[in-house]
Amino acid sequence: MSSSPSSTPQRPPEVVVVGSGPGGATVARELARGGRRVLILERGRDWRSSRLYGTYPGALLYADRSALLFTREGLNIIRPLMVGGATSMYCGCAAHPRDWWKERYGIDLEEPAADAARELGVEPLPPELRGEASTRIAEAGMEAGMPWEPQLKFLRPERADPFDCGAHCMLGCRCGAKWSAGEYVDQAVEAGAELWTRARVDRILVEGGAVRGVAGRRGASSVARGTPFQVEAETVILAAGGIGSPVLLQGCGIEAAGQGMAMDTTVMVYGTAPGGGIGSDPPMTWSSADDELGVLYSTLIDPWLMYPIIMAQKGLRWSLTWPRWGRTLGVMIKLTDEISGRVLAEDRIEKGLTPDDRERLDRAREVAGRILRQAGCDADTIVSTPLRGTHPSATARIGEVVGADLATEVEGLHVCDASVFPEALGRPTVLTIIALARRLSRQLLASGNGPESGPRTEPGHPPGAPS
Ligand SMILES: Cc1cc2nc3c(=O)[nH]c(=O)nc-3n(C[C@H](O)[C@H](O)[C@H](O)COP(=O)(O)OP(=O)(O)OC[C@H]3O[C@@H](n4cnc5c(N)ncnc54)[C@H](O)[C@@H]3O)c2cc1C
Repeated sequence: MSSSPSSTPQRPPEVVVVGSGPGGATVARELARGGRRVLILERGRDWRSSRLYGTYPGALLYADRSALLFTREGLNIIRPLMVGGATSMYCGCAAHPRDWWKERYGIDLEEPAADAARELGVEPLPPELRGEASTRIAEAGMEAGMPWEPQLKFLRPERADPFDCGAHCMLGCRCGAKWSAGEYVDQAVEAGAELWTRARVDRILVEGGAVRGVAGRRGASSVARGTPFQVEAETVILAAGGIGSPVLLQGCGIEAAGQGMAMDTTVMVYGTAPGGGIGSDPPMTWSSADDELGVLYSTLIDPWLMYPIIMAQKGLRWSLTWPRWGRTLGVMIKLTDEISGRVLAEDRIEKGLTPDDRERLDRAREVAGRILRQAGCDADTIVSTPLRGTHPSATARIGEVVGADLATEVEGLHVCDASVFPEALGRPTVLTIIALARRLSRQLLASGNGPESGPRTEPGHPPGAPS
């Protein structure tokens, strides 16, 4: 992957994209293919070709604060910082945008989501790859009258040789089956975009109510030691994620940013059963949504070495269940949480559970416990993990911080990531983020961003060419 050591772009960019997760990578690819001069600034490295990628030590290096980022209320946030953003550690699940985007906000994401799903081959895994133990959990749920369904995945087993997807693939996909936003970054670069890694944006430059560019430091793991840079552009697209974007917006005076957030707060409920556990099954192959309760259940267990660390937070007794990991079944609960808390700085986040969240989570834990007992788990072994957050979002909400066109009050400054969600998704986020980014790109290309307008054909990908 190219990464210029200079702090001057090879060509003056028309568009600066901050962050290379699914929001940033998609918009960068689409705009570069539309002929725009795009510069992508990513604070993390590109770990994908490193031998450490997808390993326990690797995950400690690319997860923010070695995966020990906690809110004041004790919720553990997993925030990968590298090329591809959080898709470098995600479970590869996909969900089509929820109906409320159109019904409540007039935003139609159906077509861009369907296009992306087709392009990326989004499908459930075939039955023989869903995992025997995971399927046992889903069947137990169905016997209890719940609508369990095979989960849509950004996974193409045929790309891997051999397909080796298990709980460990949350550390990063090593077998190549799972799509990550890094692939869109590569395609953006092929289409002429420039990528700077280890380039952390600290400030959005604003003059007379319009964006003028960005400033930051690059080249060192410690930001204080990096080389300062300043890049000018008439269009800046913030895609630094649900924590990074609101902090940058606050820095340019948009005070509503970071006031309240959603997290799709997660706990895992575990139980031990005779027979094999789900650790060697691909994560989240089956799911069941209860939209009345605002909960998504899925089949999942933490990777082997993470398990005792997480269980230690419950007490010694539970971390000593580590030897049973291979026989453990897990049901993940993802709560459609209320907007609450605040992002004050990247390491000063307030977010816990509201009384309503707590009440619904308690009910969901009971349901998960029932499913596990039905699947053969001994009742004494059933335990739920502490709170975790992997979907920081809704911190620059549509209707409050950005318009339906994802534009801020600062001319030329857009936000395109999970922070624009108007409410908690309660579902896998990535397909929705890609759809938002495709929609924004289409709007920008049609309206003409930057000094010239209209689609241009050079360099890179001709406008309208299939993606
Ligand atoms: C363990 C885990 C499992 C998950 N599983 C799923 C799943 O199965 N399906 C699903 O749909 N979702 C899943 N998610 C959630 C999903 O990955 C995220 O919601 C999604 O990636 C968010 O996209 P984004 O573009 O908003 O931001 P991110 O993916 O967070 O990308 C933001 C990028 O911006 C960079 N950045 C931040 N600040 C700056 C700065 N100041 N300057 C420059 N760069 C900056 C970051 O390094 C990062 O690369 C999972 C997440 C995790 C952590």
